[in-house]
Amino acid sequence: MKLRLFFSGLALLISACKPSSTEPAAKAPGADAPAEIAAAASAKSGKPQVLVANYPLQYFAQRIAGDAVEVRFLAPKDEDPAFWQPDEAAVAAFQSADLILMNGATYSKWADKITLPESKVVDTSSAFANNFIQITDATTHSHGPGGEHSHNGTAFTTWIDFKQASLQARAVSEALMKLVPAAKEAMEKNVDALKDELEALDDRMSTLSRRLVNQPLVASHPVYHYLARRYGMNLKSLLWEPDTVLDDKYLADLNGILATHRARWMIWEGDPTKDNVEKLSSLGLRSIVFDPCGNVPDSGDFMTVMKANVAALEQAFP
Ligand SMILES: [Zn+2]
Repeated sequence: MKLRLFFSGLALLISACKPSSTEPAAKAPGADAPAEIAAAASAKSGKPQVLVANYPLQYFAQRIAGDAVEVRFLAPKDEDPAFWQPDEAAVAAFQSADLILMNGATYSKWADKITLPESKVVDTSSAFANNFIQITDATTHSHGPGGEHSHNGTAFTTWIDFKQASLQARAVSEALMKLVPAAKEAMEKNVDALKDELEALDDRMSTLSRRLVNQPLVASHPVYHYLARRYGMNLKSLLWEPDTVLDDKYLADLNGILATHRARWMIWEGDPTKDNVEKLSSLGLRSIVFDPCGNVPDSGDFMTVMKANVAALEQAFP
């Protein structure tokens, strides 16, 4: 079976998210990828190969499995893994993996076009699939090399609802324990520690949510739906990047929102340019970073980035 069947009902919704600029290099390698590519891409360590769809899953898998498996995250650092297109070697690596940890929620747009070995695929968000958020008002735009895309369809930044992150960590641990039963005991300890930390973040955000009620907020990009839902944030999104040069058109979009939504804070995915901070400041908006961390951070790891995100919000809303 093709992975696309998992998403059958969503096929129409996500079709808008496919980059239009380039045809995927990995158009249809299917199971008949050249043997030498598959061989080159597969195990070098002799350990079970675990391929992951994004950095949060890489972090979870590594924390849980330690060195019992080799965790491989193949999207380049400068790309959004959600809109990345794997090349032929990457596709071959996925197809010869021992376990493929997917984010689910239509995260990996590429998975719609590529045949993956069904028995190896684990959808880590399936436990809360009936709670996914559907976005219907997003327009097409582009960031990074992936070409144009839209955020219409299922919201996919699932893990910044830390309760959902904890469920994903559990799904990762169950799959890893099945893969390497001999390491089960250690993995159970590791996943408990990880879930404790995720739940501590959830507690801090839940405490904070009482102070966020009735605070209109603006986000630079539509990636915070699950964060906003779980922690009661009144958030409206633009389609900006931290380094977008804010010309009159962008500022008109913002002023359109501010007319009815008197936000004092803008939430960015990464550090905004000094220029952008100043421009917003002149409109009475202060800048704060909440990095969803879908790809490998420049420094620290998933947990340190999330702790910094929550601390920044705590500071902004003391
Ligand atoms: Zn986008």
